[in-house]
Amino acid sequence: GSLPGWDRVEDLVGAAHARYRDVDDGVVADYIPVLATVDPGLYGVCVAESGGAVHGAGDTEVEFSVQSISKAFVYALVCEEFGHQDVLERVGVNNTGLPFNSVIAVELNDGHPMNPMVNAGALATTALMPGASFGEQWENVRGGLSAFAGRQLELDDEVYRSESATNMRNKAIARLLQSYGRIEVDPLEVVDVYTRQCALRVSAHDLAVMGATLADGGVNPVTGERVVSGQVCRDTLAVLAATGMYERSGEWLFEIGLPAKSGVAGGIVAVAPGKGAIGTFSPPLDPAGNSVRGQRATAYLSRTLGLNVFASA
Ligand code: GLN
Repeated sequence: GSLPGWDRVEDLVGAAHARYRDVDDGVVADYIPVLATVDPGLYGVCVAESGGAVHGAGDTEVEFSVQSISKAFVYALVCEEFGHQDVLERVGVNNTGLPFNSVIAVELNDGHPMNPMVNAGALATTALMPGASFGEQWENVRGGLSAFAGRQLELDDEVYRSESATNMRNKAIARLLQSYGRIEVDPLEVVDVYTRQCALRVSAHDLAVMGATLADGGVNPVTGERVVSGQVCRDTLAVLAATGMYERSGEWLFEIGLPAKSGVAGGIVAVAPGKGAIGTFSPPLDPAGNSVRGQRATAYLSRTLGLNVFASA
């Protein structure tokens, strides 16, 4: 099946925003100091259809740092370059069951990063981005994510500097991976590219279009540009289903039934293959680091738009 008609989707997106606007559970991330200064009331809900129609309610054009959601799209770009088998062996696809910035997950698995949606695997993935220098790798990350969004994305310099000054843990993870031979270039340069990648500015609208590109077999439904192959979209969505919501991925799939990725600035993208994607933004997070209002809005839209990938009708 496909999505309901334009008016119906428009109404449901408006309802998803209105229903959860007054929810005030969750806390804004503060381990990256500048993120703690955001307005917790910001809230946007957006749906992009695989045909290119976009529906939004609330703060859909407000920009925030993409954070961990970048991991999904960098992974797709690296899969496009290296292919299914190579990336499977190097980075893995299994859930760690541990928080996204876990150090012991790396040791417990003999130095294997486990999957590209935790920081260890994301660092190992970013290290594989094409480019003759770290500067070129960064430009390729930025260019690739911009192609998914259908517009040029910019670095949030304040977020980049705030995280760079406080990301000792990611530096430790990168050094640990290096010690196991899993990162073969300068690990601190890899962390720098990764920190920039996380500080790219997006809106809920951008997230919906980026997700709809994965839903659409790799063609951006708004610009018509092919960004990655259909095979890469399948690979990426499978990894998101297993690992995109961290240690809560099982519960998310059970309740909502869509591959998705969250970030600590409050974004979530959820993808309905062949149909479109939902992009939400609301900064207060649950203990796993997933936006509280974003989860509620996505659950509502998955249910009312009939998006659960496990539903037979
Ligand atoms: N840049 C953040 C980090 O590496 C991203 C984390 C996230 O969004 N979960 O800690």
